[in-house]
Amino acid sequence: MSDTGGGHRASAEAIRDAFNIEFGDDYRIIIKDVWKEYTGWPLNDMERQYKFMVKHVGLWSVAFHGTSPKWIHRSYLSALAAYYAKQIEAGLMEYKPDIIISVHPLMQHIPLWVMKRQGLQKKVIFVTVITDLNTCHRTWFHHGVSRCYCPSKEVAKRALVDGLGDSQIRVFGLPVRPSFPRTIIGKDDLRKELEIDSNLPAVLLMGGGEGMGPVQKTAQTLGDSLYDSKERKPIGQLIVICGRNKTLASALASHEWKIPIKVRGFETQMEKWMGACDCIITKAGPGTIAEALICGLPIILNDYIPGQEKGNVPYVVDNGAGIFTRSPKETAKTVAGWFSSKKNELYKMSENALKLAQPEAVFDIVKDIHHLSQQQQKRIQLYNDYSY
Ligand code: UDP
Repeated sequence: MSDTGGGHRASAEAIRDAFNIEFGDDYRIIIKDVWKEYTGWPLNDMERQYKFMVKHVGLWSVAFHGTSPKWIHRSYLSALAAYYAKQIEAGLMEYKPDIIISVHPLMQHIPLWVMKRQGLQKKVIFVTVITDLNTCHRTWFHHGVSRCYCPSKEVAKRALVDGLGDSQIRVFGLPVRPSFPRTIIGKDDLRKELEIDSNLPAVLLMGGGEGMGPVQKTAQTLGDSLYDSKERKPIGQLIVICGRNKTLASALASHEWKIPIKVRGFETQMEKWMGACDCIITKAGPGTIAEALICGLPIILNDYIPGQEKGNVPYVVDNGAGIFTRSPKETAKTVAGWFSSKKNELYKMSENALKLAQPEAVFDIVKDIHHLSQQQQKRIQLYNDYSY
């Protein structure tokens, strides 16, 4: 994985936790950012470059679409593979994995190239778990994988078009940390634990792991729209999770608010914050969307990263689980409506969100990987028997 955004790490952790729940000590799971630890520039600096580019969306759009043709990304990645092969090989040898699970679009070509060089392709299982819901980048699709887990039929179609075979593709959904479906604490208790007002409806506002998108402006506008100036009381409360964006957190903390608000940094128990709220406003990050659906939260999408997140908007909106607007005013008006005269709309969207949710996806993925591993062991056993 790589910490570009928060979604890849969240998916990696989801897979690790599901392996632990399902198979106990049978597997030892190691989560690694191979680029950061075993390569040099530009791969080991990807996090910073990604943050810079998604802030300047035009630049990201050019990078995303410009590297889409196979011949461009293949030549680029092959050159890097040749350059860093030794270090990556050393990384692989340090752990000698039986299975490699990639949850990042740039983690197919180079490890598979190194495995081929080492003659490990038949011994080590390599699978890709795609963490984009629709318009994903083509680097996700590599013909040399044992499995390519696609979170939706749309992504599976793209995989087929890119030449992957039916036997490689499985569609189970996006892996979400098992703590989401398994949090059985009720909303009232969660609110007590998190010290959130137990009587007022709550909206959660966030922007992925990096706190991206129009969070500050939206928070301020909500601060006005969720206050009934005639009655002189709030009609709702606001929870803002800023992720790793410290500037945002301190700007919001120094603002004067008329409604109850909680401003938080990077949270490790997102399932609790989502479980305590009634709806969510977020950029169209696939991880956050999949988690919100499991929690039955109607979603207001207020932004998307061009390329990989664009297709997440119709995924939510066309399925009646939320709306898309870039306008903070419109967002605030919608939430105020949901918390007063349009409660039915909120309930209906919550039902639709639950229908779209795939809480079991991560378990289906790890069970399938386990199955692959068993088949592999049988093959190795047969080979050894035959050799004698
Ligand atoms: N997240 C988290 N703590 C935070 C903020 C975000 O654990 O304080 C998680 C969030 O629950 C989700 C991921 O980070 O799993 C964000 O992934 P998404 O695909 O939505 O957006 P990205 O950050 O990758 O652009």
